[in-house]
Amino acid sequence: MKVEVDELHCQGHGLCQMTSPDVFGLREEDGHSYVLPGGADPKHEESARQAAAACPERAIVVTSD
Ligand code: SF4
Repeated sequence: MKVEVDELHCQGHGLCQMTSPDVFGLREEDGHSYVLPGGADPKHEESARQAAAACPERAIVVTSD
């Protein structure tokens, strides 16, 4: 699985991290999202897709291998 956060569109709402805390972290400096180490493990795919659906900016792209 591949998980990407579009830096230009992320507005730091934090919904992704709330929805999928095993996949996403939020940077302290601006609250924007990043993919945690191990966050793209296939076992998190369902959760990552839920976060992508929850993102108001559609800034998350999840692709299967
Ligand atoms: S929900 Fe979307 S806009 Fe909000 S922090 Fe996550 S990726 Fe960024």
